[in-house]
Amino acid sequence: MVPNQLSSFLERRFRKRLKGFYTPLESLDGRGIKDNTHVTVIGGGIAGSIFVRQLALQAHKAGKKINITMVNSTNCNYCGGLITNLAMDTLDELCNLDIPDDIVLKQVTECIYINKAGSINVELAKPLTATLRTSRFGYIGFDDSIKNRVTQGLPKEAIERIEIIEPTLAKKVLRLSGQEHKWEVVLSKRNPDNTNKVLKTDIVVMACGFRSVDKPMLKNFQETTGYQPPPYIPASVTEVDTSKATKNLISNRMFILDGIIPDCVVAFIPKGPKWLTLTTLNKKLSIEDLDIIFGHPQVQEFIELSNPSDCLRCHTICGAKVYLGASKTFYGDNWFVIGDLTGYGRVLKDGYFAAVLGAQLAAETLVHLGADYQSLRKGYHNRLKHFAKDNFYGRNLFKLNNWLSQKDWFAKTFIAVAQSESKYKYGSYVHSAIRALANGELSYKMIVFLFAMGLIKHPFLTFRALMGKKV
Ligand SMILES: Cc1cc2nc3c(=O)[nH]c(=O)nc-3n(C[C@H](O)[C@H](O)[C@H](O)COP(=O)(O)OP(=O)(O)OC[C@H]3O[C@@H](n4cnc5c(N)ncnc54)[C@H](O)[C@@H]3O)c2cc1C
Repeated sequence: MVPNQLSSFLERRFRKRLKGFYTPLESLDGRGIKDNTHVTVIGGGIAGSIFVRQLALQAHKAGKKINITMVNSTNCNYCGGLITNLAMDTLDELCNLDIPDDIVLKQVTECIYINKAGSINVELAKPLTATLRTSRFGYIGFDDSIKNRVTQGLPKEAIERIEIIEPTLAKKVLRLSGQEHKWEVVLSKRNPDNTNKVLKTDIVVMACGFRSVDKPMLKNFQETTGYQPPPYIPASVTEVDTSKATKNLISNRMFILDGIIPDCVVAFIPKGPKWLTLTTLNKKLSIEDLDIIFGHPQVQEFIELSNPSDCLRCHTICGAKVYLGASKTFYGDNWFVIGDLTGYGRVLKDGYFAAVLGAQLAAETLVHLGADYQSLRKGYHNRLKHFAKDNFYGRNLFKLNNWLSQKDWFAKTFIAVAQSESKYKYGSYVHSAIRALANGELSYKMIVFLFAMGLIKHPFLTFRALMGKKV
């Protein structure tokens, strides 16, 4: 088997599918939350919205009459928005939700990897879907499109038991003792009734994402429950209007810029003919960094944009956080956390998939097992553990790459090896590894293996580079 056939075989054979992460929870007679339980979900991003939908559906199927309230602030929720095929299939299979055409801004068909020494074109076998997260600039965002369809297709009796309060902010979550309900959630005055609303509830579900970290509400919740947010790294995102570019070959391509900014991986995601989203991992980008990126000769092969800081659609670069591992404590009796704040997902990729899957697992656990610590451990935490093992490879690959990408010899070898694979349409090992970083379809363990195979396969190039010779 020639190398490109082997790498294609590995891509097909080890492609991540929902069934590798998910088996439905068996319904057990007499277990699970009881009729008239009230569940309050704080946060209506992907995790919160999917949780509400799936909890209502599962409860209805199990003949349980429960009440659900979701409270959500409607701040801008960043721009990201690249939906992998795994995330799309999961939404369809678990939630019967599709990606409506009107939220799709681009179908990404190619990934260009750029480092200091050159660039490589990597074809994607299946396009990736680029959207906005929050509705802006006259487009509906992906997160909003899901939130707007929370009740779509649910039975009438289930819909009647769902209440959505927004825009509002949960200001405090207090544990009650010796009372009928176990929690009190205090909302800010900024809510549709303009009053300090207080919700009494039985179960609290935190789905408020990384923006709530370090805010008093979550700090207080941590003190009450022992919840610990996952370890995270800085990130950032901004929308770039490229209409003033004197050269623009971005088209349907996404870009991974490796080591152009030290210790930082930058991505360009195309959103329109004259528009791209710029995201960074491991650093909050500064205005000076923007000049470095757009002034770099390898980037200028594809886009020439002078004064990029004048081309930011929101006139700012938003700082963000991305998890790099799992939370140590994220559930207890009658409370738990879902989505990003668990840190249970594949680090540095495919947050939507993890948010949808985690929400489903949590909803099934409540309905079929219960909301006590032991039930949550069995039905929720244990079924999330798939993620943790592979993240060891993901984290270390990321750290090693940040170090290696600063070495000229490595940057040159990497490009030389990858270019030598370009004789095949889909390349070979290195192309497969880069493709998997873009589309999230292989485990990090497999990506490490493919990179290693690519370099071992070309000992001559690698040796010359190590000797400091031209490759
Ligand atoms: C810059 C960036 C780009 C990304 N790009 C991608 C991508 O392209 N593809 C991908 O798959 N993943 C991406 N991710 C990851 C993905 O966005 C997340 O994994 C996913 O959205 C997690 O959803 P969530 O529901 O847990 O949290 P969030 O999406 O953060 O939702 C939290 C919700 O809670 C609300 N909220 C917060 N505090 C309160 C409060 N006190 N009261 C009421 N409501 C509150 C917020 O307004 C928000 O609506 C990106 C992440 C970042 C930071």
